[in-house]
Amino acid sequence: MLIDLYSDTATRPTAAMRRAIAEAEVGDEQKGEDPTVNRLQEMVAALLGKEAALFLPSGTMCNEIAIKVHTRPGDAIIADRLAHVFGSEAGGPAFHSGVLVKLLDGERGRFTPEQVAAALDPGSAHVAPTTLLCVEQTHNFGGGTLWPLDQLRAVCEVARRAGLATHLDGARLLNAVVASGVAAREFCAPCDSAWLDLSKGLGAPVGGVLAGSAAFITEARRYKHIFGGAMRQAGIIAAAGVYALEHHVARLAEDHEHARRLAAGLGDIPGVTVENPEPETNIVFFDIAGTGIAPAEFLDRIKTRGVRMGAMGPRRLRAVTHLDVGAGDVETALTVAREMLA
Ligand SMILES: *Cc1c(COP(=O)(O)O)cnc(C)c1O
Repeated sequence: MLIDLYSDTATRPTAAMRRAIAEAEVGDEQKGEDPTVNRLQEMVAALLGKEAALFLPSGTMCNEIAIKVHTRPGDAIIADRLAHVFGSEAGGPAFHSGVLVKLLDGERGRFTPEQVAAALDPGSAHVAPTTLLCVEQTHNFGGGTLWPLDQLRAVCEVARRAGLATHLDGARLLNAVVASGVAAREFCAPCDSAWLDLSKGLGAPVGGVLAGSAAFITEARRYKHIFGGAMRQAGIIAAAGVYALEHHVARLAEDHEHARRLAAGLGDIPGVTVENPEPETNIVFFDIAGTGIAPAEFLDRIKTRGVRMGAMGPRRLRAVTHLDVGAGDVETALTVAREMLA
């Protein structure tokens, strides 16, 4: 079996999750008649402390619909330079919403209230109005970075005072919750909209759930249809999400433990530099420049030994822990990495 550290999207539904899928009650989701989808939406709305929630086919659609609802074409939005909305959604904010993205140079994905303040602009005859702030919790390409609650509140407060909407990309929000002990609703309170991904470390095969005010979700539902994301008997996939929220949240702590072990072990290999030697959550970034071995060759070599990791750019390598990676797998991956870099 491949030890797949490429991403926490690699998880496969467990046997128990597959049973939940098989037994799901279903109905027409487009008409609001799928009881399992409705249950999932209620669970996430309660968890994130919002009035309503909407099940969507992907996390990307959660971000793209939220941006669409919060902005008008020609607006500017603020995000970190490494934000998923900017770099990994195929130009979605420009394509769907016609917005400019103002990039902040954060520290591993986290920026400061001062940086937000400097990027604000009410707009004029010549200048695009800045109308939305996007925050990512945890920050993927920052290295699974955890935003402290105070800092998250502070950046959102600056935005809110200037009349901007605030959006939380919570693809790995529950990793942040488990790592910090702060409730999801606390992280979401400063944000008008927030979502979590079911298909990352939670281990479900498909989907994300976007939450916000009742009025926000009414509009989001319309865009869901426009974007072609409205489904029919979607309880089949929503059941996996319900199962994941009931059974796979607390165990994220194991993934974090495994990431710390991975970071420590990689850091002990001569020539390897770990960017985040003490990962807060489940993502480790490192480079192997000091070994003289090319990253692509390293990835090929470990793959032949049954271990997969990813390259994010020409030098940055990434390893992500998740439900399908056990403590023994981490040791095996380290042994393989050590041998291939010797
Ligand atoms: C994976 C990811 C997304 C997109 O989610 P998909 O379900 O893969 O579309 C958005 N934001 C972040 C931070 C992610 O890691």
